[in-house]
Amino acid sequence: MERTLFRGARIVDGTGAPSFVGDALIEGVRVAALAPEIRRGGAREIDCAGKVLCPGFVDVHRHIDMAIFADGFGQAELRQGITASLAGHCGFSLAPAGNYGRAVRIRNAPILGAGGAGDSAGAVGAGGVGATGGADGAACADGAAGADGAGGVGAAGYADGAGGAAGEPQDFPEFSDYLDALAARRLPFHVGAMVGAGTLRVAAAGDDAAKPMSPKALEAMLALLRRALDAGAFGLSLGLMYAPDCFAAEHELDAMAAEVARRGRVLSVHLRGEGRALVSSIDEVLAVARRTGAALHISHLKSTGIDRAALLDQAMERIAGAVAAGLSVSCDAYPYSAGSTTLLTRLPPEWQAMEHRARSARLRDPAEREALRRELSREHSSWDNALLAAGWETVVPVGAPGLAM
Ligand SMILES: [Zn+2]
Repeated sequence: MERTLFRGARIVDGTGAPSFVGDALIEGVRVAALAPEIRRGGAREIDCAGKVLCPGFVDVHRHIDMAIFADGFGQAELRQGITASLAGHCGFSLAPAGNYGRAVRIRNAPILGAGGAGDSAGAVGAGGVGATGGADGAACADGAAGADGAGGVGAAGYADGAGGAAGEPQDFPEFSDYLDALAARRLPFHVGAMVGAGTLRVAAAGDDAAKPMSPKALEAMLALLRRALDAGAFGLSLGLMYAPDCFAAEHELDAMAAEVARRGRVLSVHLRGEGRALVSSIDEVLAVARRTGAALHISHLKSTGIDRAALLDQAMERIAGAVAAGLSVSCDAYPYSAGSTTLLTRLPPEWQAMEHRARSARLRDPAEREALRRELSREHSSWDNALLAAGWETVVPVGAPGLAM
């Protein structure tokens, strides 16, 4: 058995215990010993003086759902010490697609990559948008061609979607089909996946996903969700800022969250609003957790707009209050004041819901453009105008299908 001794490192063992300077002996693929000093011969020694030794990092938020099918995936992550990653966030997952594979692909393309979605997806994608200096809203597909969390810097083009270069187009009617494909990839580190509520909604309702669901469609969506959770999804992700999740009725959210709670999984959420509506958006999902008992995780918690940084204090108070009251609530955040998402999500919900050709046609009409410009230059009570909060001057276009950026 191969034995390796890491000598004299500052060891952070991942348990929360204080770090210490010492040795670590690895036998085969297991940590055989951790101690201030290990005296055993026969091991290959690596001098780690001045270095930190710690377990691999778990990257809890990546839009790598499609990127994992690209050749060479994983190298950028491993070089950053990431040994486990979770996909399927913000309502976006490749599976299940049900009988609406094409619609799911088109809907996912801007965030997960356009592989196989074709021209239509390109039009929907309409480019990624980065924002600086303003802690932009959705930050869902963050910089560095990775995604929220530690991205694979420079490993893929921005225009490939937030997750990195897209692999071959594939449809996964059931979540288990996706997990089977993951297993077949023999990836160099652990990957788990959430099931996205937006994907479930499109998979169950097709073109009718952007409106309240019929009882039949709701039951079909819940059946897909149950099968996904039973197949191994870590939980359900909501993308309440995005269409079609933003059109979900309260009873629909509750019905989904109840399935998650019943199985002891996690309900994660990209909040409906991350600017002016930050606190009310947190209240909204805390209420879902309270009514259903689901464990809640708030993804990439932030406050959009420099002048709204103080809202984060209120946000943390809300979360602390919920935890004190017995709810299971957690959050993650990334350590920079920028975000990135698709240009589409900066538009009013009504514009997000449009079929992409209809939207393009409207945008070609000067009167419609002027009307949209007016909508984007004021606050709204029903949706968070993140572009107004961050300021157009902070926006950096980083990719557009068919355009070299
Ligand atoms: Zn997100």
